[in-house]
Amino acid sequence: MSTTTKTIERPDVRDETSTGNDTPKFFHYVKKDRILDSAVNGSFVVALCGDTFPVTKQAKPGSPVCPDCEKAYKALRRK
Ligand SMILES: [Zn+2]
Repeated sequence: MSTTTKTIERPDVRDETSTGNDTPKFFHYVKKDRILDSAVNGSFVVALCGDTFPVTKQAKPGSPVCPDCEKAYKALRRK
């Protein structure tokens, strides 16, 4: 009997269903001064990928970085 089927245990899957809609699935890259401004004024920040959200929404530790933000970040650093 070959064991080609493995049970993969992932304790941290499906954030989107377990935590509701107010927790982003990804970390976004946002400029630090904008984070501060949002924390003070409650304004929305614009992430590198163009996504906007208030800073009160924080991705959970261990969440993946937004792929669009990562691309934009790498593009910025090239210049
Ligand atoms: Zn993003």
